[in-house]
Amino acid sequence: MKITALAGGVGGAKMVHGLAAHIAPTDLTVIVNTGDDFEHLGLTICPDLDTVCYTLAGLANFETGWGRANETWNVISNVEKLGGAGWFRLGDQDIATHLERTRRLKAGQPLSQITKDFCQAWGIPQTILPMSDAPVRTMVNTEAGELAFQEYFVHRRCEPKVKSFRFDGIASAEPASGVQEALHQADAILICPSNPWVSIDPILKVIKTINRPVVAVSPIIGGQSVKGPAAKMYAELGIEPSALAVAQHYQRLLSGYVLDTVDAKLAQPINELGVKTLITNTLMTSLADRARLAEDVLHFIRSL
Ligand code: GDP
Repeated sequence: MKITALAGGVGGAKMVHGLAAHIAPTDLTVIVNTGDDFEHLGLTICPDLDTVCYTLAGLANFETGWGRANETWNVISNVEKLGGAGWFRLGDQDIATHLERTRRLKAGQPLSQITKDFCQAWGIPQTILPMSDAPVRTMVNTEAGELAFQEYFVHRRCEPKVKSFRFDGIASAEPASGVQEALHQADAILICPSNPWVSIDPILKVIKTINRPVVAVSPIIGGQSVKGPAAKMYAELGIEPSALAVAQHYQRLLSGYVLDTVDAKLAQPINELGVKTLITNTLMTSLADRARLAEDVLHFIRSL
């Protein structure tokens, strides 16, 4: 069964890692959000792409969910000593990725080609695609004014209240090479348990239409995010955060929806939206959790 997954960083990478344990590498394509990308210290940084790649390559830091395992921090601490910005923690090994990516982008290579080459170098057999080769930059409209995504997310620790989002460059951003084919050839599209507002919405806006069955996994468990600001964003936008709110967010696309056991009572209102549900444990704490959830999700997709 061919699956094309739509993914952000941390939640997306965990889900995709689980899927990789069950399906052949040629049957798994991941379309990754690039709205979180930014230019910092002269480097182009693609946090979600790197999190997905490091995870599939077995290079990720398991505790933080982002960055590399066995990382050192010499460069960033010396940048700080010189008065430079240290708020975005870039590890030494990670910086190598950004240096080489930035060099290639400046030489005119598309991000999708660079990502393909990096995946080959890291021994990743699955296909990882940025949503677009054109730069898209998520802007967060907050009570403290409009902030670039990483300024809001990392520097301001998601503190300013969110009012809306804008995806700079999205109107002219075409899907990257390979994205449309992956969407057409898939037996199903899986929306990973990623942030609907800032990880999945940018991808959906770039790809515009999907003609295959879509299944999503809720990133909200018991009304809360596992990590990050998704639930806080829902609340600040005036929507009660819940697995139901996420299902409503994706409603027009969904054939199936996976929600956590603690949210079992929400299955009925989701079914009433015309969406089939799978209730299972969706918290991925261990590697075994990732694989077990993926197995359940694949079984559910086959049953639709
Ligand atoms: P980011 O771009 O690094 O913020 O990553 P994502 O958008 O992919 O992931 C963030 C979302 O993943 C948050 O809304 C979390 O609630 C969700 N998430 C993280 N870990 C898990 C998990 O183990 N299970 C589920 N269901 N959601 C998770």
